[in-house]
Amino acid sequence: VSGSRRKMGSITRERVKTFLQRNTFVIFTVAAVALGVVLGFALRPHNLSIREVKMLQMLVLLLIVSSLVTGISSLDSKASGKMGIRAIVYYMVTTFIAVFIGIVMVIIIRPGKGSRDSPVASSGSIEPVQAADAFLDLIRWEEKICFHQIYTILQSIQETVEEVVPVSGSSNGVNALGLVVFSMCFGLVIGNMKQQGQALRDFFDCLNEAIMRMVAIIIWYAPVGILFLIAGKIVEMKDLAQVGGQLGMYTVSVIVGLLIHGLFVLPLLFFVVTKKNPFTFIAGLLQALITALGTSSSSATLPITFRCLEENNHVDKRVTRFVLPVGATINMDGTALYEAVAAIFIAQVNDMDLNFGQILTISITATAASIGAAGIPQAGLVTMVIVLTSVGLPTEDITLIIAVDWFLDRLRTTTNVLGDSFGAGIVEHLSRLELQSQDVEISNSVIEE
Ligand code: ASP
Repeated sequence: VSGSRRKMGSITRERVKTFLQRNTFVIFTVAAVALGVVLGFALRPHNLSIREVKMLQMLVLLLIVSSLVTGISSLDSKASGKMGIRAIVYYMVTTFIAVFIGIVMVIIIRPGKGSRDSPVASSGSIEPVQAADAFLDLIRWEEKICFHQIYTILQSIQETVEEVVPVSGSSNGVNALGLVVFSMCFGLVIGNMKQQGQALRDFFDCLNEAIMRMVAIIIWYAPVGILFLIAGKIVEMKDLAQVGGQLGMYTVSVIVGLLIHGLFVLPLLFFVVTKKNPFTFIAGLLQALITALGTSSSSATLPITFRCLEENNHVDKRVTRFVLPVGATINMDGTALYEAVAAIFIAQVNDMDLNFGQILTISITATAASIGAAGIPQAGLVTMVIVLTSVGLPTEDITLIIAVDWFLDRLRTTTNVLGDSFGAGIVEHLSRLELQSQDVEISNSVIEE
C-alpha cells in the first residue's frame, strides 16, 4: 500500500512540476501583479519607474517591420491578398460590434443622467432633439444628419488617412501606421522579386528571428516591469476612492461592455468559425493579456502576443507575422467601444439628447478614432477629440473622464490584444487551404532541388 501511495505521490509531484514548468511566465506575471498591488500600497509616497514598457517598445518597431516584410514576402500575392481581406473584414465587423455593444450599454445604464445643473451643460452647438430616448428617432434619422456632420466624418477620415501616410509623424514620435503601410508595400515588392529578392528576404527573416530571440530574453524581465507599473499606479491612485456616482456608473458601463465583447462575442465568433475551444485559446494568451493589463500598451505587448500565439496556440507564423502587427496598430475593439461610451456619456452629462444620426456619427468616428489611435497608453483619450467634435460635444469635457482613464485604459488594451489574437486564429483557419497549398509548393521545390 505504502509503495503505491509513494507512486501516486511521485506522479502528483511530477504533474505539479510539469505544470510549473509550462506556466512559469504566467505564474511569474500573476505573482508580479499581486506583489505590485502589495508594494504599491506599502510604498505610496515613492516614484516608480516604467522601464519595462520602454524596453519592449524599443523592439516593437523593428518587430513590426521585420515581421510584416517577412510575413508578406513569404506568401504569394494571391494568398496575402486573400488573407489581408479576411483580416480587414474581421477587424471591421468586430470593431462595429464592439461599438454597438458600448452604445447599447451606455444607453441602458445611462451613467450621465440627471445632470441638469452641470456647469458644462449643453453648449448648444447642435440642435438637441426633444425625444428622451434616442432610439425613438430611428425613423427620422436621415433628416437629422446635417451636412455639418457628414463634413466632420469626412474630416476625421481624412485625419486618419493622413496618419497612414508614412511621411507624417505622430504625436509619440513613432508613426506605427505609416510603418505598417510601408512594410506591407516593401514586403509585397520583395516577395515579387523572385531570386533577385532572396538576399533581402533572408535579411528580414534573420532580423525577425533575432528580434524574437531578444524578446525571449526580455520577456523574463516583463513581470518585474509589470510589478513596478502596477505598484506605481497604486501609489498615485488617490482619487479612485472618490469615484462614485456618474463616473462610477460610466466605469461600470465600459467594463460590462468590454466583458461582453471579450468574453462572449469574440469567443463565440471564434468558436463558430474555427470550431475550437475559445477558452483554451484565451488560456494560451494569458501572459499577453496580463502584460496588456500591466502596460496599457498593445504595441509594447506585441512581442509577447507573438510568442503566446505561436508557441502556446500554435498559430502559423505566416499568419501571425502578417496579421498581428497590422491588428495591433489598427484593430482596437476595446478602444472603439470605450470611445463610443465616453462620447455618449459626455452627451448625457451635458443633457444633450442624441438622435440616431448623431449616434451613427459617433459609431463611425469612434471606429475611425480607434484605427487612428496608437497602441500606447491613453492614446484613445487623445483621439476622443475626433468623436466629440463630430457631434458638437465640448472637447474640454474629456477632463471629466481622465480620473478613471488609467484604469479603463488597461482593460480596453487587454480587449484590443484579445481581439487581435482571435483575429489571427480566425484568419489562420480561413486561410488554411492557401497555407496548405503553399506548403506543398515549398516541399515540391525542395524535392526538385
Ligand atoms: N492603450 C491602448 C492600446 O495600447 C490604446 C488606447 O488608449 O485606447 O491598445
